[in-house]
Amino acid sequence: MNDRVHRYQYDAGVTDCLFCRIVAGEIPATLVTETDTTLAFRDIDPKAPTHVLVIPKEHHTAIGDVDPVLAGQILATAHQVAKAEGIDESGYRLVFNTGKDGGQTVFHVHCHVLGGRGLTWPPG
Ligand code: 5GP
Ligand code: ZN
Repeated sequence: MNDRVHRYQYDAGVTDCLFCRIVAGEIPATLVTETDTTLAFRDIDPKAPTHVLVIPKEHHTAIGDVDPVLAGQILATAHQVAKAEGIDESGYRLVFNTGKDGGQTVFHVHCHVLGGRGLTWPPG
């Protein structure tokens, strides 16, 4: 058992969280990059040629619960993903769906990195 699995299994109450289980390696995901505090993996149902989710390894429900240093690390990883995917020049969109009206369906904060095609505005 690696440290991450141990840490998240030990932290009772969040083990039902899908993204905590991805961090723990209990559910497979296609990883794009990883830092000490963040993980980036491909969305299972991509809405654009590049659709990557960047999450903090720590469980937080929504972006408003994340301290500013960690929020900055999420954004830095998102930009690193955009560069690695070759969409930093063509352009990309970072989205934090938050709460019911924001369309959030997984309640472990995540930043969508979307690009590789022209994205329409406004969103639905
Ligand atoms: P939300 O709707 O909360 O902003 O975004 C949740 C995202 O998680 C969706 O885009 C959805 O496709 C993605 N997702 C849901 N379940 C899984 C999964 O098991 N693996 C991966 N890689 N993505 C998932
Ligand atoms: Zn979680």
